[in-house]
Amino acid sequence: MNAVPKPPVLATLGCRLNAYESEAMREMAEAAGLDGAVIVNTCAVTAEAVRKARQEIRRLSRENPGAPIIVTGCAAQTEPETFAAMPEVARVVGNAEKMQPATWQVLAAPDFGTERVMVDDIMSVRETAGHLIDGFGRHRAYVQVQNGCDHRCTFCIIPYGRGNSRSVPAGVVVEQIKRLRDRSFNEVVLTGVDLTSWGADLPGAPRLGNLVRRILRMVPDLPRLRISSIDSIEADPDLMEAIATEPRLMPHLHLSLQHGDDLILKRMKRRHLRGDAIAFCEEARRLRPDIVFGADIIAGFPTETEAHFENSVKLVQDCGLTFLHVFPYSARKGTPAARMPRVSGPAIKERAARLRRVGDEVLRAHLQAQVGRSHRVLTEGPRLGRTEQFTEVAFDRDMPEGSLLDVAIRGHDGARLVA
Ligand code: SF4
Repeated sequence: MNAVPKPPVLATLGCRLNAYESEAMREMAEAAGLDGAVIVNTCAVTAEAVRKARQEIRRLSRENPGAPIIVTGCAAQTEPETFAAMPEVARVVGNAEKMQPATWQVLAAPDFGTERVMVDDIMSVRETAGHLIDGFGRHRAYVQVQNGCDHRCTFCIIPYGRGNSRSVPAGVVVEQIKRLRDRSFNEVVLTGVDLTSWGADLPGAPRLGNLVRRILRMVPDLPRLRISSIDSIEADPDLMEAIATEPRLMPHLHLSLQHGDDLILKRMKRRHLRGDAIAFCEEARRLRPDIVFGADIIAGFPTETEAHFENSVKLVQDCGLTFLHVFPYSARKGTPAARMPRVSGPAIKERAARLRRVGDEVLRAHLQAQVGRSHRVLTEGPRLGRTEQFTEVAFDRDMPEGSLLDVAIRGHDGARLVA
């Protein structure tokens, strides 16, 4: 036991929500006096993510000999036995437990708490603990406004890791953002699992657009508000109004599209059809001409034919997408899609590669169109930043970090702009 507890080593895998929660865990662990532990916040979105978690645990165990390893996050929640079986692991903590200060007090005790596995039924969780964090390891702060998901897309393991949808009350969100603004954060990203379901469990069932407009009204000196990812079919009228009229709401939306073929979308149990996605992008672009879209698309979903896949490729153009996140289908145990007839591994790989090439082409076209223009950039590192459209910018000289600069775009390298 060190006289002054050694701060925990934190390893965060997966999504922005995990990044936010890791900051909250850091603060709770330090407040509890947890001494010299390693905390691994895992992801379960693909089988590959779980494999990476195990790999990371072994690496951290080698690099931190004798340090107790605490594994949490979605992989710990969905398959605690996998991690409990690892000799390197001291404790396995569930997704709800990790956000409870009491959990860290137990873990900070000399006996480290008696239970090796602290993972309860995530579906019984009704509240989202709105932790107010003081800072963030970057110049863009992620703020959790929602957790869990009430949908059950047939390929997705997330609801089993994060439970049903629950919202952080607007007042707590505004308070959090004011706190980050007081610490000179120039950009805040609203994050959650299914953001557009924010408010459904709150009195009066407010919608995401209402929250966005309230934040911008209540924090008038916040330069940039960004939304992490949305289900376009659930965008509410207030949100569309904010997209049209609020310059501090960034002109960039990441869409959870998943596929471009209607039959496959039905087999995924998605709530939209390809026509809906195209109509949403057209309407958002009519309201905000400089808006750009990113999207998640799965390649090789069970029963997908070449013709179905071609509809995903075409959707990239039809929606005018700029940033593609391509996911080769990964069967997740316990999901309905895992019981459907599979596409062969080589075909999944080949289709994912083809879709990524399409993604490179549309990104390149977007980058080319910015050359010669001026953009407002938030610098994230001495030589790196992002525009309002979320496009990366590389500088050939050191820039003051965390500041907003108007810069002229001189060129691009196929992946980012150059200024
Ligand atoms: S909306 Fe579908 S894909 Fe997204 S988290 Fe919920 S179940 Fe998963």
